[in-house]
Amino acid sequence: MTTDDPAARLAGVLDQIARAKKLAGRSDAVELIAVSKTHPAEAIEPLIAAGQRVFGENRVQEAQAKWPALREAHPDIRLALIGQLQSNKASEAVALFDQIHSLDRPSLVTVLAKAMDAAGKRPACFIQVNIGDEPQKGGCAVADLPALLTEARAADLPLAGLMALPPADVEPAPYFALLAKLARDHGLAGLSMGMSGDFATAVTLGATHVRVGSALFGARA
Ligand SMILES: *Cc1c(COP(=O)(O)O)cnc(C)c1O
Repeated sequence: MTTDDPAARLAGVLDQIARAKKLAGRSDAVELIAVSKTHPAEAIEPLIAAGQRVFGENRVQEAQAKWPALREAHPDIRLALIGQLQSNKASEAVALFDQIHSLDRPSLVTVLAKAMDAAGKRPACFIQVNIGDEPQKGGCAVADLPALLTEARAADLPLAGLMALPPADVEPAPYFALLAKLARDHGLAGLSMGMSGDFATAVTLGATHVRVGSALFGARA
């Protein structure tokens, strides 16, 4: 994006989402998650002023330091956790976030269910799938998805859908299509896929949540 005005960047991303929806003949909602990881409150405030209300963070501790004050001023803000969640941070994550996009293992199902019961708060959960079966990537293996889904449903977690990051530097569309098929096969409506470089493609393939950082905030340090 060529502009450094945050409001113009936001308008540009929303416009690209709208065009991709139109191209795909979609009239359902696509939620833009503005990924604010590493960016300080001063960088976030202009986007809030421009109307953005859903933000994504990848670390519980960083989010705890940044968001309570911003939220006090704007109680309608919603937060999504998009990074790996350690079991010992589950309670803090449930308290802080409205969506958790990184449910990736059975042990986390158990601690999240407990934390939600204790907090009386139930953030929407996306199961993160290692869609390219890459050894270095997080997410549950495609082959392990049915078992993890069974566990999450048995624990009565509020399952929203599937999340994935396709392999870097290759055409992402086949991976988005595969994630969409897995969600369909398992009766899940939510699809968290698409980042700054590929969110429009993801929207044409059914993304319901796109996680966009650098296209809104500029490059991270
Ligand atoms: C950082 C991050 C994003 C945003 O990436 P950009 O390329 O800056 O849009 C999206 N999803 C996850 C899981 C991330 O960690």
